[in-house]
Amino acid sequence: MVISLKERKISGKIKQTLKNSYTCPFCGKKFKMGLEYNILEIFKKDKLALYPHIHLHGNPLHGMVCYIDWQYNIRSIEVIKSIEISRDSETFGEIMSKWSNPY
Ligand SMILES: [Zn+2]
Repeated sequence: MVISLKERKISGKIKQTLKNSYTCPFCGKKFKMGLEYNILEIFKKDKLALYPHIHLHGNPLHGMVCYIDWQYNIRSIEVIKSIEISRDSETFGEIMSKWSNPY
């Protein structure tokens, strides 16, 4: 997939790429992840906390809870094998919004 320069500029304004990638311990796939800038504002308030970030992928669908420090490093992860998604239009809209960004 080719991402245009315009799309890269847009993504650079809404996301910060995390410094390290991570391999899912369940399926073995390696991922590069990013956080939205509005979430990064939380780091400025509490530099001692690890921020939980969920990454969903795979078949069967599973996920990783990634704990991220204030310098955008993934410090640890947990695998999630049981996932339930609320079946309402508000949730569907948010999932589509997340899906359409480059991370
Ligand atoms: Zn996986």
